[in-house]
Amino acid sequence: MKLKTVALIIFSLSILLLSQENKNRKDFKLNKSYKTEEEWKKILTEEQYYVLREKGTERPFTGKYWNHFEKGVYKCAACGEVLFESETKFDAGCGWPSFYESIDKNKIIEKDDFSFGMHRIEVMCKNCGGHLGHVFNDGPKPTGLRYCINSVSIKFEKK
Ligand code: FE
Repeated sequence: MKLKTVALIIFSLSILLLSQENKNRKDFKLNKSYKTEEEWKKILTEEQYYVLREKGTERPFTGKYWNHFEKGVYKCAACGEVLFESETKFDAGCGWPSFYESIDKNKIIEKDDFSFGMHRIEVMCKNCGGHLGHVFNDGPKPTGLRYCINSVSIKFEKK
């Protein structure tokens, strides 16, 4: 009986530690392009800084790419990492560039966001931590997702 209890405690502790580790991993794992806020301020325009670093949102139908459908890739405006491609872009009618999928899940951080009294999933560039937008469950097939991204946070490169 005692042995069972000890085993149970050890088992629970290891589960707890593992989940904690996973949580940390999910929260943040940036790397190559880490910069201080002072450095970002020098590199980014005021609008880019507001969206990418302060998690702001550009006004709908005002950005460069909400109505842009050329063939090519979209890079992080802060660090240059390729994040989305035109093949997965669609017209969501929401005024922001929308994609049903990122180019690689490992290049994106998805994190709970409880700001403004609602629950959304924030999307960030995994390489530099720059805020890109949010992902919603009302996208088209095949994923059913809608990555709603600020034009300010991305840079198009023609194929
Ligand atoms: Fe980036």
